[in-house]
Amino acid sequence: MDFAIRGKRALVCAASKGLGRGAAEALAGEGVALVLNARGAEALEATAGDIRARFGVPVETVAGDIATEEGRAAVLAAAGEVDILVTNAGGPPPGAWTDWSRDDFIAAFDANMLSAIALMQALVPGMMDRRWGQVVNITSRAVKAPLAALGLSNTARAGLTGFVAGMSRQVAGSGVTVNNLLPGSHDTDRLRGADARNASLKGISAEEQKTRRMAANPVGRDGTAQEFGAVCAFLCSEQAAFIVGQNLLVDGGEVNATF
Ligand code: NAP
Repeated sequence: MDFAIRGKRALVCAASKGLGRGAAEALAGEGVALVLNARGAEALEATAGDIRARFGVPVETVAGDIATEEGRAAVLAAAGEVDILVTNAGGPPPGAWTDWSRDDFIAAFDANMLSAIALMQALVPGMMDRRWGQVVNITSRAVKAPLAALGLSNTARAGLTGFVAGMSRQVAGSGVTVNNLLPGSHDTDRLRGADARNASLKGISAEEQKTRRMAANPVGRDGTAQEFGAVCAFLCSEQAAFIVGQNLLVDGGEVNATF
């Protein structure tokens, strides 16, 4: 299937590694020119170079923290007009519900709610003027089923989900679709870190922790960034133009729910 987005221009945030990189690679595979962001310049440049070499598309980079106003200003200045926006940022730290202070919540809101909202506020009006745009927010399965240790994620991402539910229906008539993509367990640095942490709490090896965790997934394994990226590219395609305001789980069926 030709996604009909060849020659479009996309901003993919938090994209030097993991799910953001998976999204960037899948879009590059469809012939989309990229603006990529992450905080660490070295990994970002390495990813950009690899994507240029493999897919032959233009790739610009902006190193900076997308959770901050300064970081976003630099990204937006470099990005200019884009047709596709993929919002993403690192996830918040784990803990217990009694642990978190106001500052912890504000940091989670900045990274996992307000940064995505600010990027949409900056870029969607131009998409509406040009009568074409696709926005995918990378959120989490925590939106559908709370993760006990990730209360900061449960809370911040629920706020973004509510915002998108309302605004996506206000911009769809101008040719812009906005949807959220909800990863379950995917084999990235973040999940490897969580496995190592949980393994040490239980006094088992990280490998054993991973094996036990994956056994609870109907598919019996973790997802890959490539699989996740392919779904993201589909949501950015011409074919997905009638999908509006949805929260699409990519989790191997791990969230045990009918809807
Ligand atoms: P990852 O493998 O740790 O990769 C994170 C990427 O984001 C890196 O490129 C990192 O580069 C960049 N980044 C982190 N914070 C940033 C910031 N403030 N500004 C700009 N770039 C930033 O993580 P991942 O697994 O791909 O996760 C991506 C998102 O999906 C996270 O919010 C995570 O909580 C969520 N999620 C992941 C899973 C999963 O199983 N992997 C499941 C549910 C939800 P720098 O460190 O250099 O900035």
